[in-house]
Amino acid sequence: MTVDRHYFEEMEAKIPRGKVRTRFAPSPTGYMHVGNLRTALYTWLIARSQGGTFILRIEDTDQGRLVDGAVDVIYRTMAECGLNHDEGPDVGGPVAPYIQSERRDTYGKYAKLLVELGHAYYCFCEKSESEEDSGEFDRAADPCRDLSAAEVEEKLAQGLPYVIRQRIPEGSTTFHDAIFGAITVENSTLDDQVLLKRDGLPTYNFANVIDDHLMGITHVVRGSEYLSSAPKYNLLYEAFGWDVPTYVHCSPVMRDAHNKMSKRHGDPSYEDLKTEGYLTEAVLNYVALLGWSPKGEQAEQEVFSLSELVKAFDMTGISKSPAIFDRAKLDHFNAVYLRSMAPEEFAKVAEPYIRQSVTKECYDAAAIAAVLQARCEKLTDIPEKVDFFDELPAYSVEFFTNKKSKTNSEVSLAMLEAAVPVLEALEQWTTESIHDALIELAQKLEVKNATLMWPVRIAAAGKMVTPGGAVEICQILGKDETIRRLRAGMAMLQA
Ligand code: GLU
Repeated sequence: MTVDRHYFEEMEAKIPRGKVRTRFAPSPTGYMHVGNLRTALYTWLIARSQGGTFILRIEDTDQGRLVDGAVDVIYRTMAECGLNHDEGPDVGGPVAPYIQSERRDTYGKYAKLLVELGHAYYCFCEKSESEEDSGEFDRAADPCRDLSAAEVEEKLAQGLPYVIRQRIPEGSTTFHDAIFGAITVENSTLDDQVLLKRDGLPTYNFANVIDDHLMGITHVVRGSEYLSSAPKYNLLYEAFGWDVPTYVHCSPVMRDAHNKMSKRHGDPSYEDLKTEGYLTEAVLNYVALLGWSPKGEQAEQEVFSLSELVKAFDMTGISKSPAIFDRAKLDHFNAVYLRSMAPEEFAKVAEPYIRQSVTKECYDAAAIAAVLQARCEKLTDIPEKVDFFDELPAYSVEFFTNKKSKTNSEVSLAMLEAAVPVLEALEQWTTESIHDALIELAQKLEVKNATLMWPVRIAAAGKMVTPGGAVEICQILGKDETIRRLRAGMAMLQA
């Protein structure tokens, strides 16, 4: 039954060494939640900022939770976010395979090696899977812990089903985390966790350690929910005689002061945020700052492209305290990114949203995009902002009264009466010609520009708040429709 040492030597020889190697190790759940995206980003940044290698590993040992197409979601998200990997299931690499379900034989061999080393044991007790998974197991009461080698052989020969458990030693365990510092726990608080299940598949905690070692991972970046497992991981590394990687546990992303963000409770995943009209770059920038802050010259900087993050990123800037996901802050970042896009680029991303409510092709989407760009926080806000182009909404005559512009119903009526013939007389219908004609008219009438522009804009749009001013709106509407709407406004004011 002795395991073949040669196999392990070969595995050791394959491990790349000498460079920083990090991995993002998602379980294929079918979506990427914000905390996971942040872990992926920090993991990628640690590798990229230190000239290291970034690996994608798919952790699908929990076959019961597999979701169709879930791995594609991971590839797609990583690619969209620009978090390219150097090694992974799709691109291969020196320590392939990178999907845990394809590595199942490896785990069994290492579990048996650990038995030989005295740090694990076969357990033949009848336990339900859930008991095994829950970790509620009284090791002192487990008769299998002290079976002799011969007794084990005998049971194995009988073909009895078994699990392999970690043999937690006496004493205490101290581990170091780059963010949380040194943490010591009494080993009596740790359970003899199952490493290999009855079906021969590893438990998540075991596969994780084996893979991190065999893939040469130098920095293990993960959510702080795994902190409590870290001492058991440490004991496994020590039992095998392996170097313990640098642990980087990141605090959770919270919905509010007390609750973690969770998809189950309706909090958005990365895909949801995309659907809600957020730009990938804005989400990434915001997520980077959720739990990490730049130092030195960049301490005050908020807007970071991915390549700027690579330059600025330093693990020591990761915070211990949980970060609260703040929608208003994300909106702010999104608006900043939308505004900084080249107009053509913005027009391209905005057009599908514009066309959701502006269905009449005569209204130029690019011109509408131009007025929207400075006044848009989220792409999904667009349809509602520009719905007045297709159809003049029913609006209140009170909209014509505005103190700052010095307008009321009477003044507005006079302004529209003056504006209509001037606009009708225009031969060219451009923003310049409309602008110049209206400004000239205001001068002639000896009123503030706003006194004229306000009622024109209200009549043209039927809305108090619009992207773009009177001139741009009229230009997009075209001459006939503008005149028609202005006349309709006059009729309302005369009534
Ligand atoms: N597969 C784990 C998860 O998706 C990752 C844990 C780790 O990175 O060690 O939560």
